[in-house]
Amino acid sequence: MTTIAPSGNEPVDLLVVGAGPAGVAAAVMGASLRLRVTLVEAVAVGSKVAAIGALENVPGAWLTGPQLAAAFAADIARHQDANRLTVVQARATAVTGHRDRAEVVLADGSLLTAATVVAATGVTALTPQDVDWIESTGAVNVPPLWRATPEELEGREVVVLGADRPLGTWLRAHPRTDARLHVLHTAHDSYKTAEVADDSRVRFTPAGRVEIAERSGGGYDVTAYHPDGASRSARADVVLGNLGSKPSALSGLVIGPDGYCPPEAQHPRVLVAGDLKGARMQRIAVALGDGGRAALIPYYRSLENGFAPSP
Ligand SMILES: Cc1cc2nc3c(=O)[nH]c(=O)nc-3n(C[C@H](O)[C@H](O)[C@H](O)COP(=O)(O)OP(=O)(O)OC[C@H]3O[C@@H](n4cnc5c(N)ncnc54)[C@H](O)[C@@H]3O)c2cc1C
Repeated sequence: MTTIAPSGNEPVDLLVVGAGPAGVAAAVMGASLRLRVTLVEAVAVGSKVAAIGALENVPGAWLTGPQLAAAFAADIARHQDANRLTVVQARATAVTGHRDRAEVVLADGSLLTAATVVAATGVTALTPQDVDWIESTGAVNVPPLWRATPEELEGREVVVLGADRPLGTWLRAHPRTDARLHVLHTAHDSYKTAEVADDSRVRFTPAGRVEIAERSGGGYDVTAYHPDGASRSARADVVLGNLGSKPSALSGLVIGPDGYCPPEAQHPRVLVAGDLKGARMQRIAVALGDGGRAALIPYYRSLENGFAPSP
């Protein structure tokens, strides 16, 4: 993506943090309404969806994440070329609403100012440190299953921690891989295993507790303690996480008891869109609608305040 450094901080009408479906929809809607828009993205436009092998429920016949991410990037580039949108590649750390403006702090300490901020930073994968049923000795690297490629896993002993839904997505996205996944999960996740129970590439082991230790010669020793007390140890070449997700909340957002950021609790100049809003309804179509709606709110406010969009 073409980016600019966040210098010369001219206040804009709409500052969007996060360029997933929600942030892209907000930025595109704002730019098409002739609001001055800045989009802050830490990785790349559509970086999350770009790693999803197979998509469902996305209007427009988008069947793979890379296709959709490329379309998002092209749309953002089109608005950049028309000078309607500025993209800043940076990680935002905090947001603050004031009576007359909202501010976003970036990781390098710079400050961006806007009439309205849309926070659309989505969710990030839970790690073993985030759950109480996994203990690890040393710093065990547990990348998310859904970002793994079949080539990384074929012919290796693979242990997957957790039976969250991306398991089914991964298997659907790679129907021809013969990678074998040994999934350790709690009773809480048992109901999610039904979707892939017939897939012979997956083996499930219910566990009340799991211990992981890195082996000096490479790989891991993994011990699963069954809820009835019996334990079983195995060696793994690769350990992947599939534990669910947690919100990527910026400091300054109002956070609810579940860690998510309810839109109605935020400062009036700080809007929340997409997965960051709550654990339910985490879908691309919902995020797109949320983002577009979030950009319309400052637009109608600006009309009420006598603002004339630039020609
Ligand atoms: C494996 C998997 C499969 C899925 N399959 C489907 C499906 O088939 N159909 C469907 O509808 N949904 C699916 N989803 C859900 C869908 O991906 C999400 O609902 C959607 O991406 C949410 O969009 P969002 O814009 O809220 O967040 P995201 O897409 O997560 O985008 C957030 C963006 O914010 C950026 N960001 C985060 N923190 C910061 C920061 N501090 N500063 C700057 N930028 C930041 C990130 O880099 C990212 O680009 C799937 C999800 C997963 C994990």
